[in-house]
Amino acid sequence: MKRIDFLKSVALISAGTALLPKMKLFQDSAFTELRGGTGIFTMRGGTIGWYVSDDVTLAIDSQYAQTAADFLGGIDSFGGGPETFLINTHHHGDHTSGNSTFKESGYRIIAHERVPVLQRQSADDGSTVVAAEETFAEQHEIDLGNEMVHIKYYGHAHTSGDSVTWFREANVAHMGDLMFNRLYPFIDRGSGASIENWITVLETVVDEADNDTQFIFGHGNPEFGVTGSADDLLHKRDFLSKLLEHTQAGIDAGRSRDEITNVNSFDEFPDFISPSDFLSLSRNLDVAYRELTEDNG
Ligand SMILES: [Zn+2]
Repeated sequence: MKRIDFLKSVALISAGTALLPKMKLFQDSAFTELRGGTGIFTMRGGTIGWYVSDDVTLAIDSQYAQTAADFLGGIDSFGGGPETFLINTHHHGDHTSGNSTFKESGYRIIAHERVPVLQRQSADDGSTVVAAEETFAEQHEIDLGNEMVHIKYYGHAHTSGDSVTWFREANVAHMGDLMFNRLYPFIDRGSGASIENWITVLETVVDEADNDTQFIFGHGNPEFGVTGSADDLLHKRDFLSKLLEHTQAGIDAGRSRDEITNVNSFDEFPDFISPSDFLSLSRNLDVAYRELTEDNG
């Protein structure tokens, strides 16, 4: 595959913004087992995390209707039980558009209280939104017997409704879109994103983790993947810090918004890819500029 085609494919898969037939780029199966009953499912849109035991089948994020159906058609082969849960890490369509498919299969949907609100706000076509019926403000625990699932909200970051799902026994955590691994992130200022607080959120999560914690990421540069360690979170933290530092230095030096944001890459972060104009460093810097210059309410 030529590099440009490769990057286009990455863009379509990672951003989940285009209608693509299902594609499996780097593995034969969309399912990958991690440990302690957990795993991931990657097809189109945000990475689905999962946990199975004799009693329970739990999914984190729902991608799209078709890939949700593919997930539900395949997860049984891993031996999950009949009690079923779906957690939404946040409201974006590439993580929640499969909700209806899960709901029709009897899954209980759980999310932070901002998620249904933001889903309805962004459903500009008036279509019916399938949202969590069970919500929480700070945290929510599900005792599954052999595993304790702990869903925690850490404040405004990628949106105003992101949560991290911890599997305490397996020592695995799903970050949702708090992690775009070596990929310029979407910073959804219209939904309450905060770069400054995102930095704090990543540091807090790392403080709660240990060297063995395995993290699942919403999106990733294919070269680096959608799982990783606390070091990857700190790398992202450093990138977000650089966004604010670069922008503030430009403002202090009297540079224009265009001069500050017209940057294609940072020397310190050579691995970051820009799959599309939508996910680019200049877009990230423009959000940073607005965060530093506009009233943040
Ligand atoms: Zn997102």
